[in-house]
Amino acid sequence: MKKTIYTLLILLISLPIAGQLSQQSKNITETFFPDVTSVENVTPALKKKKGYTNYKELKSFLNGLVVENPQKIKLSIIGKTQKGREIPMVILTNPNQKEKVRVWMQGGLHGDESASTEGMLYLIHQLLNDEKYKNILDDIELAIVPMANIDGYLKKDRYAANGLDLNRDQAKLMAPESVVLKNAFVAFNPEVAVDFHEFRPFRRDLAMMGNFGVVTLYDAMFLNTGNLNVPKNLRDLTENIFVKNAQKSLKSFGFNTVPYVSTADYNGEVVFNQGSLNSRSSVTNYALTNTIATLLEVRGVGIGKTSFKRRVFITFSVAISFLETTKNNKLLVKEEIEKAINEQREDVVVTHKRPIYKDTIQVIDLNTERIIDLEVKKRDAARVKPILVRKRPIAYYLDEDQKILVDKMRILGVKVAQLSTDEEKMSESYTITYYDKNFKKYEKVNQQDVRTMIIKEKKMFKKGTYKVSMNQKRANIVIELLEPEAPNSFVSFGLLKTKEGAQLPIYRILN
Ligand SMILES: [Zn+2]
Repeated sequence: MKKTIYTLLILLISLPIAGQLSQQSKNITETFFPDVTSVENVTPALKKKKGYTNYKELKSFLNGLVVENPQKIKLSIIGKTQKGREIPMVILTNPNQKEKVRVWMQGGLHGDESASTEGMLYLIHQLLNDEKYKNILDDIELAIVPMANIDGYLKKDRYAANGLDLNRDQAKLMAPESVVLKNAFVAFNPEVAVDFHEFRPFRRDLAMMGNFGVVTLYDAMFLNTGNLNVPKNLRDLTENIFVKNAQKSLKSFGFNTVPYVSTADYNGEVVFNQGSLNSRSSVTNYALTNTIATLLEVRGVGIGKTSFKRRVFITFSVAISFLETTKNNKLLVKEEIEKAINEQREDVVVTHKRPIYKDTIQVIDLNTERIIDLEVKKRDAARVKPILVRKRPIAYYLDEDQKILVDKMRILGVKVAQLSTDEEKMSESYTITYYDKNFKKYEKVNQQDVRTMIIKEKKMFKKGTYKVSMNQKRANIVIELLEPEAPNSFVSFGLLKTKEGAQLPIYRILN
């Protein structure tokens, strides 16, 4: 009986919220998010009143552009989805003898974020057809995957066919699409990368705030990494030049932008997380391989085709801004990446912690449909503190039976060698001192939570032992994969099973 009443109560409470979640009033749309009429109806979804670009339209749109501009655009298939659909990628450049900067862009990694895909298609079309952008690709080679999660996209579903979130799968690589995308990314070896997304403005947590719920005001939010293993010069270059220029560009068109915040439950209360730390997601994953990277979130999930041209235009404008900034800073980009590869920090940060502080954000109050200030608790990745810190090794060694882990590192572009003779080395090994095998169910895996004790010893490593040198371009991602306590490590994701008292088959070589 008690349970029934409780269920009824929950139903009653959630009814008005569910209502709010699915609609945006005409007044809010017209006051805050009027559509952009200058966007031409040149892509499949822009051409039709209802619905989005389907798979057939995607292919014929890209094929059509290739036929018209064979010198400037090349179309390739990088692999297949779980449902067997071919995943197209285009590479655009102006043919000349100049040295190019390589830029990677992708849309539709989450299948219900439709303007990200359409913005990429619009970008490709405009780069090939609008005189204004004729020279932008003189110094740039641009790879675009416009519909990264095709199976999800065609169902308007965030997830891939097996239910995995492709933007939480970039360290463990459990979905076939993650492997396909990473292989293409590594082969292209970009210096600048932007992952285009949309966010849900009517979030459940927001419905509980204000008098009658609030909704996000900002058109666009930038998600940058605060991960301390990403060299500071690259974080600064991303934030202070690339993102700042894009924000300026959006502002000139009248759009509101801020750093990306998303609500989360933290010890029982709702906090706003700002920025990214996790290598399971694109922006931090890219940045850890010494790529200048950001992720754009446009206000769009759950509101259908409302303000669709506005969302496409914002996506397009940020892409153009990133290309222009790249073109205007060609030498700087190359120099700073070189510097990041060569000037490594002395230590590695295994775990981070974000301080909590009070802040004010602007939101739209659903009762009055006016902008109000909302006092919130925030955790900002840009203010992060290192918690568990270790000396940076010159290499990690792995036992010969750890081929599965080695294969994943190789997909991420990490070079792994094997010892050609037996070798005696001073090394540090990890012994598990605390173990929880069901710490958290996350993305279909039982995460392991461990603590370790490090033992220094002289050890004979057999011929065939895997060696991961930390003197390579993508070394920083290795820290996140192999240090067992790191939140997205192979141990944390259960790819390397262990137990209390066990010694891990991973070793730190200090000199
Ligand atoms: Zn997304």
